[in-house]
Amino acid sequence: MIRKLRKAQWVYDCPDCGWISFPSPDLFGAREAESWHPHMPEHREEMLRQAFEPFRAVMTEVVSAYANLARNIVETIAPAMEQINYALMPAPNIPHDPSLLKDRRKWGGR
Ligand SMILES: [Zn+2]
Repeated sequence: MIRKLRKAQWVYDCPDCGWISFPSPDLFGAREAESWHPHMPEHREEMLRQAFEPFRAVMTEVVSAYANLARNIVETIAPAMEQINYALMPAPNIPHDPSLLKDRRKWGGR
């Protein structure tokens, strides 16, 4: 909506998002603002936000449900993953024959 604040101060007040243009000295500047304002990112973001407002509560519930599901899955699988990690760990590099532990050429020292 184009308004005249006072003499030589025309502004465009967006009825959808409440954006107010800078005062223009003539009606033409306010009409220009009216024409290019719908292409501004602020106006588009506001329109998108208003369009998706009814789904916000539902989406937060869906997101929290998915987070709970992921946490349950992780808590269920974590012990099995620990067992698999233990099974796949490389064996310690210690010889089975204890007498080889005294072989200082291999296990340090001279
Ligand atoms: Zn707007």
